[in-house]
Amino acid sequence: MHEVALSQQLAGAVARAASGRRVLSVNLRIGALRQVVPESLAHAWTFTTSGTPLAGSALEVEWMDAVMTCACGFSGVISGEFSALCPECDAIGTIEQGNEFQLVSIDVDSADNS
Ligand SMILES: [Zn+2]
Repeated sequence: MHEVALSQQLAGAVARAASGRRVLSVNLRIGALRQVVPESLAHAWTFTTSGTPLAGSALEVEWMDAVMTCACGFSGVISGEFSALCPECDAIGTIEQGNEFQLVSIDVDSADNS
């Protein structure tokens, strides 16, 4: 359940960014290689923010595919069990995308956002 640890980390960052304003939604970008389970993250977020100023805020996640490029010319989405090996030639490829865990933006209650 590393989603709980991620949520706690995230809640800290969001609380700092919100600086006391009521948070309506949190926009995130999460890469496939993070192996985050959407339902688990949603539950963990509800649990983590319960009783805090972030309670009731929604998580909006942009899920990023894992993309690899390789010296052999391969460039594409890798799926399933993560491997650093190129599916075309078994050389070690370069991960271009998929490790993201980014807080993109937060939407705060406009009544408090002067
Ligand atoms: Zn290759």
